Amino acid sequence: ELANRMAERVSDVVKSLMNMGMMVTQNQTIDADTAELIIEEFGHRVVRVSDADVESVIKEVEENPDDLKSRPPVITIMGHVDHGKTSLLDAIRDTSVTSGEAGGITQHIGAYQVQTKDGAKLTFLDTPGHAAFTSMRSRGAQVTDIVILVVAADDSVMPQTIEAINHAKAAGVPMIVAINKVDKPAADPDKVRAQLLQYEVLVEKMSGEVQDVEVSAKTGQGLDELLEAIALQAEILELKVNPDRAAQGAVIEAKLDVGRGPVATVLIQHGTLRQGDIFVVGEQWGKVRAMENDKGERVKEAGPSVPVEVLGLNGTPEAGDVLNVVDTEAQAREIAEYRQEKAKEKRAVAGAATTLEQLMQKAKDDQNVAELPILVKADVQGSAEAIVQALEKVGNDEVRVRVLHSGVGAITESDIGLAEASGAPVIGFNVRANAPARNSANQKGVEIRYYSVIYDLVDDVKAAASGLLSAEV
Ligand code: GDP
Repeated sequence: ELANRMAERVSDVVKSLMNMGMMVTQNQTIDADTAELIIEEFGHRVVRVSDADVESVIKEVEENPDDLKSRPPVITIMGHVDHGKTSLLDAIRDTSVTSGEAGGITQHIGAYQVQTKDGAKLTFLDTPGHAAFTSMRSRGAQVTDIVILVVAADDSVMPQTIEAINHAKAAGVPMIVAINKVDKPAADPDKVRAQLLQYEVLVEKMSGEVQDVEVSAKTGQGLDELLEAIALQAEILELKVNPDRAAQGAVIEAKLDVGRGPVATVLIQHGTLRQGDIFVVGEQWGKVRAMENDKGERVKEAGPSVPVEVLGLNGTPEAGDVLNVVDTEAQAREIAEYRQEKAKEKRAVAGAATTLEQLMQKAKDDQNVAELPILVKADVQGSAEAIVQALEKVGNDEVRVRVLHSGVGAITESDIGLAEASGAPVIGFNVRANAPARNSANQKGVEIRYYSVIYDLVDDVKAAASGLLSAEV
């Protein structure tokens, strides 16, 4: 691929790599830095992919209103454990199957589509876990159009009910309340309605806007009304997309299958995904080798709101990753690699930044208390721990010692950097600062103190702490 793009001979590129000490064959993948060296060696110019390049390939197309067609709504059922989410999903599936299929359906993937008696299609996501809902949303995939909030009529609004309400509200997704288990003698639907009021869910029966339906997953009572409520809500939402463009979808679940390799269940959101399509999905890419629908049947294409299992990925994506069909394999590969690099960089930065940010936040939280930040390096873990424990006992309501960082080994430049950023002295217990750290400390005015007796160390810190206290007063 690299040779091809440079219009050079493959054997020359391989030879060149071998000269660099890399024993590779022509189909092997090399990292970006090595590729860059090779490109320069051959006298070509390196053009790394940028965000703009990715955006130009995966562009948000301005749709022509004439191309838009209605798509089925995508529904997630949420609610407290044991309130009947699974039973309701099952009951809906059973009432909705066309006579020919009845009984024989076993669900294959984490989403399924049903057809109501009036021929309307509905897509249900079978991921009742609230965590799945949030994690998908946090990865930028908003797949749910309607949340069905299940509340058992013989129980009450419970912690996970409240959580579900908050998730739906935060996502701006309309809710339909299904008051379940109304067949039970102890059922008291009005109590549930009144309780929901406390969480600002005002249902229609209480003159509000949120549709509420009394159902029984057990007897099937109210299921038709529930489906009607969904259809009505979907109509209000005017869910229209262009089925004829390059497909875009969201990964609902993905796994590495021993026999089949990486497989992902994708919910198509725009366009139509076809066998043979080349795509990029999160940090992975692939070419649709085969697709299976929710009944485990092979399909050649999948349109909007259809969940399909996709085979032909180069790696396992994550739930919530967005799939985009692109024109060429080279584009797909380039974007996936670019994203992998970016993710790697981001992880590295995040690792460093979180600690610093946490430190800042802590300092903010503790504004009323004077703090003496300190960095500790010791010769062995045991000493480091003993020192940290002793130091944390120093102080009172008005002043306290905060150990920013403690570790084993010589004091290094990075210790000095951290100390400088927080205005902290560095304490060395039976260890010294290395030469670069000493220079850096001199330049930055960071104090380094050496000790070999814990008692002395703690005494000095106590004195410094009381000094800080008197300075504040
Ligand atoms: P989930 O944890 O929310 O998925 O709840 P399940 O669907 O597993 O249901 C929990 C229990 O409630 C099971 O024993 C169901 O049989 C029972 N159940 C669910 N719906 C109904 C209903 O409408 N009526 C009655 N009587 N029991 C129900």
